[in-house]
Order: sequence, then C-alpha cells, then structure tokens
Amino acid sequence: ASFGFQTVKEDEKESLVKNVFDSVASSYDLMNDASSLGVHRLWKDSFVSGLKPGKHGPMRCIDVAGGTGDIALRILDYAREKHYDRETTVDVADINAQMLKEGERRFKQTMYHNTPQVSFNVANAQSLPKERFADNSYDLYTIAFGIRNCTSIPSVLEEAYRVLKPGGTFACLEFSRVNNPLLATIYDQYSFSVIPLMGTILAGDRASYQYLVESIRRFPPQPEFAQMIRDAGFSTGPDVDGGAWSDQWGGIACVHKGVKL
Ligand code: SAM
Repeated sequence: ASFGFQTVKEDEKESLVKNVFDSVASSYDLMNDASSLGVHRLWKDSFVSGLKPGKHGPMRCIDVAGGTGDIALRILDYAREKHYDRETTVDVADINAQMLKEGERRFKQTMYHNTPQVSFNVANAQSLPKERFADNSYDLYTIAFGIRNCTSIPSVLEEAYRVLKPGGTFACLEFSRVNNPLLATIYDQYSFSVIPLMGTILAGDRASYQYLVESIRRFPPQPEFAQMIRDAGFSTGPDVDGGAWSDQWGGIACVHKGVKL
C-alpha cells in the first residue's frame, strides 16, 4: 500500500511524515545501509569532505533534518581528524524526537558526548524557533536526505537563509534525477520493488519505505532545485565551491550548494 501523498492535504502531510520516521527510527540506520547497499555512507563522506569543515578555523554548523546524526558526526570527525579542530559545533535539528533520540544514543559512544560540540533540537525546518536559531548565526547549514520530506521547500530555504551568516554556505544532499536512461530504468526497478520489499523484511514496514521511494520521484530535478535556491537569495554562481550542483552516481543523489551574499 502507498500513502498516496499527492492526495493528502499539506498539514496532514507533516504528521504523516512524522509517523513514517517514528516507525522507522530504530531500524533507520540498518535500512539505510541495506537499501543503498552502504552507498549512502560514501555520499555522506564526500558531501562533508567537500565542505571542508574546520579548514578555515572552527565553524558554527546547523544540520537540519539531522535524524540520527550521520552528518553531524562526519562534520565533527572531519574537523578533528583533518584540522585538529575541537571547537567546531553542530546543532542538529529534526522534527522527530525519536530520530534525535537514536542520534543522542549514538553520540554517547563518542568523544563529543557532553561537550558543547553537539546539541539535539526538536524543530521544524520550515520554522526554526528564532530564540534558539538566531538570524545570521551559522557558517554552514547542511540538510541531507531531508528537504524532500518537507511540505514547503521555499520555507526551508528561507529559514536556511535567515540563520546563515553573510558568506555562510547552504549545502543539501538529496536523491535527485538520474540522467542516463539505462541507469534510470535499472534504478526505477530497484527502488520500486527491492526497497519496499527490504522494508517489509528488515523493518516490517513496507508503506514507510514505499513513501520514501515516492517522495524521491516528486522532488524537483537539479536545475529546478538550483533555481529555488537562487530564488531564496543564495548565490549558486562563482562564489560557490564546486558549482551549483554536483551529481553523485549519475544523479541518484546530488549535492546542491548556495552562498548567502
Ligand atoms: N540527515 C539524516 C541522514 O542523512 O541520515 C536523516 C535523513 S532522514 C531520511 C529524513 C529526516 O528528516 C528524518 O529524521 C525526519 O524526521 C526529518 N524531517 C522530515 N520533515 C522535517 C521537517 N519539516 N523539519 C525537520 N526535520 C524533518
């Protein structure tokens, strides 16, 4: 069965998304590995190393839709391992307390636990509370595999723009449009049959994984999303290290960046 999101109202979508992630929280990391055959780790590694956290000194980072903390952990590890930086911080924000709880549990086993380097915050990407996430306060805003689940992409981008300092970077890792027709056919077969099946077997939850696959299909293709980033006020031009977007694996995933001028 599918959730048929196209037919639900916007306010209902938010609670449906919450339910999806409530029901997958504990199996989320396992399913991520299984459904992408571990490849999401490579994409996340290259996403974070492309941002070079810590290279130009400690950074204040916010990782939105941060879930179980995959990106936050990579940012902190990269800064520490490459630049001996233990002052970079990441505030993880996610709408779902269950996902954050898994993240907190995981961080307990790291050296960042109980340090000011990481915090977990329940917050909606579309309306980050101003008292916690002030205007012009972050050097780096990341969102990985999260923006397509949000009801209004422009509101997410508007909030990203608000919380970033001038000169700060917006960086998004998301499933995107596969450009090669042969690869697209194989990928379609895989995602519409294998992933929901894995969801059933590994997590006992076919519908949630079916939703995840469908949400990927509805996300705007690369040039359209880049335009939305520009519409929010970001530059995707020559100021951006690596260009407006860079496809990973033929567009299965894609990194979009923008700089707040
Ligand atoms: N960034 C993590 C990663 O790459 O492993 C988690 C990605 S997970 C596929 C998507 C996350 O987006 C979930 O944790 C979900 O709760 C969160 N999410 C969905 N809608 C959101 C919203 N409006 N605001 C904040 N987080 C949201």
